[in-house]
Amino acid sequence: MTCPTAPEGRVRSGFLPDRTVHLHPLRRCNLACRHCYSLSSPRARDILSMEVLTPALRSLYDEGYEVLSLSGGEPMLYPELEALTRYARELGFRIVGITNGFRVTPRFDHLLDCFDGLAVSFDGMGATHDHVRGSPRAFDMAKAALRRLAEIGKPAAAAFTVSRDSLPEIPEFVEMAAAHDVRAVQLRPLVMAGRAPVAYADPALSVADMGRLWLIGRALAAAYEGRLSVHVDLAHARAIVADDAAWRGMLSESARLSDIVNPIVVTPDGVLKPFTFDFPAAFDLGRIEDLTDGGEAGIRVAARPLKGLLAAQLADLRRREEFIDWFAHCRDFAAALGGVVRYSPAAPCR
Ligand code: SF4
Repeated sequence: MTCPTAPEGRVRSGFLPDRTVHLHPLRRCNLACRHCYSLSSPRARDILSMEVLTPALRSLYDEGYEVLSLSGGEPMLYPELEALTRYARELGFRIVGITNGFRVTPRFDHLLDCFDGLAVSFDGMGATHDHVRGSPRAFDMAKAALRRLAEIGKPAAAAFTVSRDSLPEIPEFVEMAAAHDVRAVQLRPLVMAGRAPVAYADPALSVADMGRLWLIGRALAAAYEGRLSVHVDLAHARAIVADDAAWRGMLSESARLSDIVNPIVVTPDGVLKPFTFDFPAAFDLGRIEDLTDGGEAGIRVAARPLKGLLAAQLADLRRREEFIDWFAHCRDFAAALGGVVRYSPAAPCR
């Protein structure tokens, strides 16, 4: 059976449109949000140096990654942001990022030039957002950031974290985003990692909430068609199983890391993780320093157990009738398996 290929002749990789490096170059942030999965705060000190990042980015580009997505902490606080993004762009990466918006002001326009596109993160409308962010200015600053991005013509998106508290506020939020000339709204279920499990008694979305979120997203996508796109980070289990191209790409025998691991996550303390920041440590791929001097081969070997994980998930998904946050599902499935998975290369893709 031949596998479908991307337009440039490469095997497709997973469920993202682009092969993506999620780089968290620092843990420092001007905020300390209640739900922060990366445990970022003004006091956090973990940071990756340019000396470490430069060879790693070259290796990752050679492995097929094409989008560098900067997060944190707050990526606009990274002291060498301009040098880092200039180097990555020269390699061929497209640069995107996600910010809380406090630095998206005319004073920092030179930092906005570092990005081909920028998403501003939200956790709800005014009071809900400010409560989660622990700052009475947070919502106004994030809205002002959207205004500034529109003024300078920078492609902007709004990333909205959906909890039980913020779920009812989605329609009002999308209207606000449309009024600020945002191109896209991404609705992302709350990640129960980092500070979130401590901060919230029960904020995670139930299976029914996931269904509601998906329906709300579909309705808003239709209502705003032509003005902005509305994307929900959910898919029905049946639709995930049916995506032949994604499965064949992930389970291909290709040698490149980006065929199997998309996205790859680089944490502020230099750990390479598949798919999510909080993926179980049993599946860690190595350290960023390993991405030099031929160490990529070892990373590819470390990625092999993921194929067993993915194949086991495919079997599990066939029994499910629910909407799924795919990457969170991968993480939870990996945690349940405890890292003990096998994959036979002789097995068919599906
Ligand atoms: S959620 Fe984002 S803005 Fe809030 S502390 Fe974490 S990195 Fe900073």
